[in-house]
Amino acid sequence: MKEKKLVIIGAGFAGLNLARKLKNSGYEITLLDKNNYHQFQPLFYQVATAGLEPSAISFPLRKVFQGYKKFHIRTCEVIKIESEKNVIQTSIGEVDYDILVIATGADTNFFGMKQVEENAIPMKSVSEALYLRNHALQRFEDALSAKDETERKALLTFVVVGGGATGVEVSGALADLKRFVLPKDFPELNFDEMEILLIENGDSTLSAMSAEASAKSKEFLERLGVKVMLSTQMKEYDGRTVILGNGKTILARTMVWAAGIKGNVIDGLNQEIIVRGSRMKVDRYNKVIGYENIYAIGDIANMVTPLYEKGHPQLANVAINQGKTLAKNLKAMLSSKPLHEFEYKDMGSMATVGRNLAVADFKKMKFQGLFAWMLWMFIHLMLILGAKNKFFVFINWAWNYITFDQSLRLIIKPFKRKVSR
Ligand SMILES: Cc1cc2nc3c(=O)[nH]c(=O)nc-3n(C[C@H](O)[C@H](O)[C@H](O)COP(=O)(O)OP(=O)(O)OC[C@H]3O[C@@H](n4cnc5c(N)ncnc54)[C@H](O)[C@@H]3O)c2cc1C
Repeated sequence: MKEKKLVIIGAGFAGLNLARKLKNSGYEITLLDKNNYHQFQPLFYQVATAGLEPSAISFPLRKVFQGYKKFHIRTCEVIKIESEKNVIQTSIGEVDYDILVIATGADTNFFGMKQVEENAIPMKSVSEALYLRNHALQRFEDALSAKDETERKALLTFVVVGGGATGVEVSGALADLKRFVLPKDFPELNFDEMEILLIENGDSTLSAMSAEASAKSKEFLERLGVKVMLSTQMKEYDGRTVILGNGKTILARTMVWAAGIKGNVIDGLNQEIIVRGSRMKVDRYNKVIGYENIYAIGDIANMVTPLYEKGHPQLANVAINQGKTLAKNLKAMLSSKPLHEFEYKDMGSMATVGRNLAVADFKKMKFQGLFAWMLWMFIHLMLILGAKNKFFVFINWAWNYITFDQSLRLIIKPFKRKVSR
């Protein structure tokens, strides 16, 4: 019998795990992604703060899927779904499917603030993380030749917007750079002038975690010298001046935007299935509501269950497990076996703040400080794909820990040839 054509859009945590679990399973699989690699998003902040090389947290898809039969990879952007014809339009042409899985994840949400979108730096891809690294390092080079004190202070002021895990992690990592690394690199600069400000609209950092974790994360950040501004609204930023909701202003040449995400919706499907946060309504089998052969998994999917009435949290673990459950169900469909409903078993959550400092919630057990930090490192090391990457990340971390240094402070600019006339 001819294999059914299964097309997966997105090789993030959800799409990658789905595809891996369907190895030689009787489907002809086409995996489409804008990039030819998978990205480990939880460690973007370490690329942005010169702790890890991009290649340590990015994995070439063709290497991951070596040896898979009836398996095709195409690097392209999916533009439109034409469900009535079972085809999708992509940047490299038309692709047809019997079953389509949308695993496109989410992108940064600037909530319509165009000027902020133009001037702030998000961290939703490895290239954006690398851009932030270049941008931040260049600010210190520029500070050496600033024309006056006001300009120098603005260059040395880093504003991070959003007190969730990403905002907390990047603020803490910047504070570690300020404490241990930058004064050695730039002895001509006075690092008392460097400020790291974390702006959060709500009244706590890490509000999705326990009250203990929230309180400790703020305490840890302040211990590291980060100025945490809670219940503060960021209204506007033109690349030089941050305007707050209370009318106050801050001069800063860097703003990191970690304040929201929205689903990467592809055109063509019924708009009524798109709910809050641009997520697609799915049933308990991840089937998109109203479609017989289209599924959505990971951050883009919104599944309402008795435990999660507003949908699951947008986390790597949810995406990984939805990918695995859908793979099981797709195999079951081939042999007409019963299907499994998805539910997320929350094993806990954690966030790191800085050297020796992290917070972790595991049901009734809550840890803060050094033990939580070691747990955080161990779990993330286990989650990274590939033995080589695990090894390099471990060596990097060990080296950085022992030497209080990290050696990746290169400003790598995109190549542009100057044409002589
Ligand atoms: C900085 C940061 C830190 C995080 N830290 C944690 C953490 O510590 N713990 C945790 O559990 N979660 C964390 N998350 C969240 C976690 O990374 C996401 O929940 C997870 O990546 C979702 O997986 P996904 O497969 O749904 O989407 P993604 O991993 O985002 O993958 C989507 C894929 O789809 C591709 N794609 C999108 N649109 C198209 C298109 N039109 N055409 C072709 N390809 C397309 C993208 O290139 C991408 O490869 C973090 C996220 C970020 C940004």
